Amino acid sequence: MEDFGASLEELRKTFRSGKTREESWRRSQLKALLRLVQEKEDEISMALKQDLGKHHVEAYRDEIGPLVKSIEFAMAGLKGWMSGKKAKLPFAAFPAKAEIIPEPLGLVLVFSAWNLPIGLALEPIIGAIAAGCVAVLKPSEQAPACSSVIAKSISAYLDPKAFKVIEGGSLVSERLLEHKWDKIFFTGSAAVGRLIMTAAAKHLTPVTLELGGKCPAIVDSLSSSWDKDIALKRILAGKFGTCSGQACIVIDYILVERKFSSELVQLLKKYIQAVFGDNPKQTHSVARIVSKKHFTRLKSFLDEPKVKASLVYGGLMDEDNLFIEPTLLVDPPLNAAVMTEEIFGPILPIITLEKIEDSIDFINFRPKPLTIYAFTHNETLKNKIVSQTSSGSLVFNDTIVQYAADTLPFGGVGESGFGRYHGKFSFDTFSHEKVIARRSYLIDFWFRYPPWDFKKLQLLKAGYRFDYVSIVLMFLGLKRTY
Ligand code: NAD
Repeated sequence: MEDFGASLEELRKTFRSGKTREESWRRSQLKALLRLVQEKEDEISMALKQDLGKHHVEAYRDEIGPLVKSIEFAMAGLKGWMSGKKAKLPFAAFPAKAEIIPEPLGLVLVFSAWNLPIGLALEPIIGAIAAGCVAVLKPSEQAPACSSVIAKSISAYLDPKAFKVIEGGSLVSERLLEHKWDKIFFTGSAAVGRLIMTAAAKHLTPVTLELGGKCPAIVDSLSSSWDKDIALKRILAGKFGTCSGQACIVIDYILVERKFSSELVQLLKKYIQAVFGDNPKQTHSVARIVSKKHFTRLKSFLDEPKVKASLVYGGLMDEDNLFIEPTLLVDPPLNAAVMTEEIFGPILPIITLEKIEDSIDFINFRPKPLTIYAFTHNETLKNKIVSQTSSGSLVFNDTIVQYAADTLPFGGVGESGFGRYHGKFSFDTFSHEKVIARRSYLIDFWFRYPPWDFKKLQLLKAGYRFDYVSIVLMFLGLKRTY
């Protein structure tokens, strides 16, 4: 297998040339990426259909649309992001000027996952371009049509001496990880995330890990029929309507109080039928499971006898078409795989609790989620969830809205990952904040230098407090008492 050394050297050479640092070059690449996404919209959409059975509207809502918006946001903010900020130095260094300027990290490696195969591949590239980096993108081999569209389009639209797409699976990934990178940006599972970090440690390469996990949705008693209608649509969209539950921020399971549990289950059944029809296999609004491997994994969740006994809706599976119907489970055993592993599919367990407040302990006894959703009007409960739980994000009364926001950092905490991106946060992820201090030879305070005496100590103490009066008094041979 190729060792990619020559390709990486070409990228490093481009970086060393300094051209990627120029604002005009970054802007031209962002414009080219925008053209790529807009001109290739149909091709991208067809690839998403081929790999995941995604409807064009869903493809636009979750991948193409957010990319267009993010690129435009980066172009609008680029000048300001690049400009750096002024800072102060201590008195002992007077007169001086200091600033913090963002410099590109250099050669970066981006790994993406298959569930939003276009969005998750190109969104970090926006940040890499804006920051002035050169990059290798390794798309997921599990979405081959999308991987191929990305590879062909990037080489046609972007500067091929600065951006390369290297396709392949784990062998290619392992070979790439043998090289030294200036940053690795990884979206994927925690298991592979651990391998990435281990490989990065060898070269002390910084990493961003965008991982997954189980995102809970706390559903408090919904009071009016209006609230119920909206909440149910949002819950369904945040599970079955987002790549058929194959997304890191979809609802993994619901927590509900016993007194509202049976009504919620009835509502979920009614709304699934209303949104996806009596025969969801015929609908074009439910994406397909990505591969036989993942289909078998999801099937094995439902094949456990105690889990099967908890099935209250759905469960229809068609292996030939990689289709699984939206499925509801009520109180499957908490030690079953469906409740210990990330589901990443259209299976929704509903867990009944005596009191809705118990949801806080339920969540806290498990790894920190990427997102917590909570549907409630109860301000006391909201405050408790804010102050007593930890997650990458917390959303009240909706799902997924936090993802496509350029103004919010997107990322996890604990086992759901670390580092963040989107908007300016992507620029920061691929930049190093370099400090520049500028001194003059005009004034030089002798008390900064050895040999030491206690007068110098007094002057240093006054200097660190910005106590100019003491300093002047000391110069005059007088002493100030505190
Ligand atoms: P994955 O970890 O299997 O693969 C991710 C990437 O790593 C792919 O490009 C893959 O080719 C590569 N890879 C696979 N094996 C490797 C190895 N041994 N060494 C190095 N690289 C390797 O994840 P996936 O199945 O593509 O995606 C699903 C997971 O990703 C879920 O856990 C999901 O929650 C998570 N995810 C997280 C986010 C987020 O933004 N936080 C978004 C989407 C998916």
